[in-house]
Amino acid sequence: MDVRNCPRCGSIFLYCGLRLCENCRKIEEEEFEKVKAYLQKNPGTTVEKVAEDTGVSLQQIMSFIRNGRLSEETKNFSGDVLFCERCQKPISEGKMCLECQRELTQTFLKTQTKIREQKAQKETDKTKEAKVRFLNKARDNK
Ligand SMILES: [Zn+2]
Ligand SMILES: [Zn+2]
Repeated sequence: MDVRNCPRCGSIFLYCGLRLCENCRKIEEEEFEKVKAYLQKNPGTTVEKVAEDTGVSLQQIMSFIRNGRLSEETKNFSGDVLFCERCQKPISEGKMCLECQRELTQTFLKTQTKIREQKAQKETDKTKEAKVRFLNKARDNK
């Protein structure tokens, strides 16, 4: 049995793959609906204003946006609310723009390949060494 502390209210709950306890999930869902309804009714608003008028924390609203749950409603904000962590370009969800994501994936893959190559090189060196040792031994035995 996996028991965890709810990161939101601190109470202990039975973990079943979900981040929050049942109670907090319910509250979060209600907050989500509240924010969504507010945005639909008040286009041209700002995140700060939504937080103020709905009583939902700024952090929570940003997390809804990041998770892509408000992708339709995000358009109702005046100006951009979410920016790429890497190049600061406005984005509609997540943490990074597509270009940065692609670049990072490529860098990651390149690093992986390099590590693999280095490992393979080391293996070859080891085999070579062993061979030399074997040959030396064979020679000494003569
Ligand atoms: Zn909770
Ligand atoms: Zn970017």
